[in-house]
Amino acid sequence: MCEILKAQHLSYSYPKSSFKALKDVNLSICEGEIVGIIGPNGSGKTTLVKSIASILQYEGSVKILGKEVKNYTRKELARILGVVAQEFSPSYDVNATEVVELGRIPYTGLLGQIAKEDAKAIEMAFESLKISHLKNRMFYSLSGGERQMVYVAKVFAQNPKLLVLDEATAHLDIGHAQRLLEKIIRFSKMDGKTVIATFHDINQAAAFSDRIVIMKEGNIVADGVPEDVLKEETLYKVYEARCTVIRHPKTGRIRVLNDLEGEQNSYQRQDTLLRSGSS
Ligand code: ADP
Ligand code: MG
Repeated sequence: MCEILKAQHLSYSYPKSSFKALKDVNLSICEGEIVGIIGPNGSGKTTLVKSIASILQYEGSVKILGKEVKNYTRKELARILGVVAQEFSPSYDVNATEVVELGRIPYTGLLGQIAKEDAKAIEMAFESLKISHLKNRMFYSLSGGERQMVYVAKVFAQNPKLLVLDEATAHLDIGHAQRLLEKIIRFSKMDGKTVIATFHDINQAAAFSDRIVIMKEGNIVADGVPEDVLKEETLYKVYEARCTVIRHPKTGRIRVLNDLEGEQNSYQRQDTLLRSGSS
């Protein structure tokens, strides 16, 4: 079976809210796909992620591997689905190894002993992210980028079939974001894992994803390969932003340039015009 996730007629309104944050969303994702979800602030990306994670009491249906997510126990779901949010903040300071060990709770239980297999999964998570040197560091002594790597190691140790990231690179600089996304691509391609990732940054989504879903006001308005959905007209309709779409000179992938006209640019242009006029 190709399908790992299927959402049908998925809707959600927050309590006391008069509008729907998700409106009849239909989405089908195959095993091994890397899907980027973009859309303006408030378009429903996080609400979609929380519905998939069975955190919200949605209307309609969300199935993972053919079973409604509401009908999984927490432990069962955590063996299949790993979620990385923008930030992870444990309620008290623990070291990085203890954070990554949390990823094994779905297998051991809260007070369960770490077995050989768990220790191996933890070791591999640290190694695959190349952060073994952080093992004994206290979580809150780490930089934002290092914390996010440790958080992802926890989810790698969980070994889910489906990894869902919600703006997981939002606070990271270009280098940390690049390393994190490359590790996630490798995690997917080596082990056939499925990844759904929401992005604030269209270009990160374009560089990362095999397929892009665009959301606006709780609806899916475009879905396809980056070449087909990242069109200047679509971006204008969705974001009300003027953009130029080009190919990356090295990778050949789609890039979106922001046609921002700063005052500085118009001054420069006026200056050039004046000079050319006076010569
Ligand atoms: P995105 O992640 O795309 O920025 P969200 O899914 O967070 O969007 O939000 C979708 C809509 O739901 C927005 O209009 C937002 O204001 C609203 N919303 C989000 N969280 C809540 C909440 N806890 N209570 C009420 N409304 C919310
Ligand atoms: Mg969000």
